[in-house]
Amino acid sequence: MDTFKVAVIPGDGIGPEVIDEGVKIMKKAAELDGRLQLEFTYFPWGCEFYLKNGKMMDEDGIEQLKSFDAIYLGAVGYPGVPDHISLWDLLLKIRKEFDQYVNIRPITLLNGAPCPITGGNKENIDMLFIRENSEGEYAGAGDWLFKGKPEEVVLQTGVFSRKGTERIIRYAFETASNAGKTLTSISKGNALNYSMVFWDQVFEQVSKEYPQVQTYSYLVDAAAMYMIKDPARFEVVVTSNLFGDILTDLGAALGGGMGLAAGANINPERMFPSMFEPIHGSAPDIAGKGIANPLAAIWSASQLFDFLGFNDIGENLISCIEKTLEEKRVLTPDLGGSASTSEVGARVAEILTEMA
Ligand code: ATP
Ligand code: MG
Repeated sequence: MDTFKVAVIPGDGIGPEVIDEGVKIMKKAAELDGRLQLEFTYFPWGCEFYLKNGKMMDEDGIEQLKSFDAIYLGAVGYPGVPDHISLWDLLLKIRKEFDQYVNIRPITLLNGAPCPITGGNKENIDMLFIRENSEGEYAGAGDWLFKGKPEEVVLQTGVFSRKGTERIIRYAFETASNAGKTLTSISKGNALNYSMVFWDQVFEQVSKEYPQVQTYSYLVDAAAMYMIKDPARFEVVVTSNLFGDILTDLGAALGGGMGLAAGANINPERMFPSMFEPIHGSAPDIAGKGIANPLAAIWSASQLFDFLGFNDIGENLISCIEKTLEEKRVLTPDLGGSASTSEVGARVAEILTEMA
């Protein structure tokens, strides 16, 4: 039997509440399957840790995480701790140090999930967003000149390296090719006259290596419109860090809301651990009430199984989430129900057992 080591960082707010359910489901799924064993190690890092210790994670935190196969993260963020600290000193630090340059965000409207547009269903809302996760507009490059003076100028530079741009686009082509799906590149070459012209050029070049993949290119503004008007156009999508950040939140809304949206931060070369997380934040408004929706965390657990090579377990978990949604019996308030976080987790576990 294969044994995998999973580092669990529950984090803040609703993070620990939803992660608890995700871990229970992973344990159950592994136990029912019998081919693998998961070993979980918990790390108490996050904003509460910061308030006590003046840092978001241990000094040698990255070293500690290196030997794990995967990282399972809840959410970080806390009122009173500036977002740039909680984000840069934990989440972005892990993404960067472990070169998790691929962000995978499935946007599929499962049966039973609410959708803000009329006519939305699983057939027309079924996309896989592949977001560049290491550079672009979030490279942290820029300058702040003449601070406070009338001539003050602020620069935020998008960084697009040949290596960084090629590798994400190639990953997207590989994914689309393996899945037999179309690939859409989303950029903005008409206005961003360096970065996005370059992006389009690289997309064009790499596409030559994959003649079997049908490709499309959209400007980001048009893509935002069509995701609402005609989402069926999009299958596998590749885009830059900033555009991906924005469009995948739009996608989260299309797919049933923040309580259902999962994301994976992947280091495809497997030199370092990859990280799996529900994409929602710590949600201080509902933290501690036991009503956070754990389905996003369970969906990210499904991505974790995919990554470990157990796609059948991953798919099975999605079916369990879908059954839970379709029944409409045990759901948290964000989905119109009145169940608690742990009741939803328990229902998914029951369905998993019934299906085994
Ligand atoms: P952070 O500052 O850490 O990003 P946040 O409050 O901004 O936290 P978001 O993920 O942006 O959290 O979510 C916005 C709102 O959506 C939350 O305040 C909460 O009301 C709701 N929400 C998010 N995730 C969930 C969930 N899993 N279950 C139920 N409601 C959720
Ligand atoms: Mg937020």
